[in-house]
Amino acid sequence: MHRYPRFIVILCCLAACQSDLDKKISQLQEVELSKPDIPFSRDSAFSFVAKQVSFGPRVPNLPSHVHCANYLTDKLSSYGLTVEVQKAEAENYRGDTLALHNIIAQYNPKHKTRIALISHWDTRPYADRETDLAQQEMLPDGANDGGSGTAIMLEIARLTKKADVDLGIDFFFFDGEETGPPEYDTSYAQTMNSYCLGSQYYCKNPLLNMNQEVGILLDIVGGNEAKYTLEHHSVNQAYQAMLTFWALGHQLGFDQYFIEEKTRFIGNDDHVVLHKCSKIPIFALIEYDATRQSYNTHQHKISDNIENVSKESLYRVGCTLWHYLTNYSSLHNVSE
Ligand SMILES: [Zn+2]
Repeated sequence: MHRYPRFIVILCCLAACQSDLDKKISQLQEVELSKPDIPFSRDSAFSFVAKQVSFGPRVPNLPSHVHCANYLTDKLSSYGLTVEVQKAEAENYRGDTLALHNIIAQYNPKHKTRIALISHWDTRPYADRETDLAQQEMLPDGANDGGSGTAIMLEIARLTKKADVDLGIDFFFFDGEETGPPEYDTSYAQTMNSYCLGSQYYCKNPLLNMNQEVGILLDIVGGNEAKYTLEHHSVNQAYQAMLTFWALGHQLGFDQYFIEEKTRFIGNDDHVVLHKCSKIPIFALIEYDATRQSYNTHQHKISDNIENVSKESLYRVGCTLWHYLTNYSSLHNVSE
């Protein structure tokens, strides 16, 4: 039997044992990235969560929903973005007509290289994960589910006013993501199409050229010590771009939070809907705990309030996102 020198065996093993993320991290080390102090502010992002919550539930057809839509539109305009509000009427699972507002804002609208940032800004119309029957019909604040992704995107929008980012960014704040039936009412099936009514409408009536090179969805990202896994649809739709983002997170020291674990996805979300109609590679940042097979523990509960949103989690995601956006042109070779 031929014997290989031991060091060659070790080297081969090291190469073979490298995970996809390890490989991406090594690739990233070859690229020169700018990393000036990242200006993403945890306090500012947190204040955007608090502001949304202050309006009350962002449930379609309620006055609090319209007040928040107006706030988002004004805020984005004040940062110099080109803002359009797509008003739509959509029928929910039981035939009620919902007045939806998809809010779309563009940074550098003429830039040819574009990426999409996506959140939903509406909140769940019931606390259907509560076990207490009396609480189930109450309306959660949606501080994390709805509020956190939207807040991070607002903070990114705020930063673009001062920074000169060499990239076109299309911000999609979709409405009507939470429209599916309550889990306690089993007379209605939990179908994929009963959720994400805003993005489904947008797909049929797009306002922009859907030529973005990549899309990033932020949903339920602000929970305490939130960890992000490689969600199933994202792996199928945008694996390399997602790994690049995870590798950047590791580079910033957030390796405990961007986990290399492929997880299943239960339900529907806007990145799946938008990918289906546009073919844009879109990945999701979403907290998921595989051991519980569930998202953040407060999701769709009354306890999804500001006290259960962490500034540090907003900061980890926001910093990594800003790092990704400001180095986007250097990341091309790594993301392929
Ligand atoms: Zn939700």
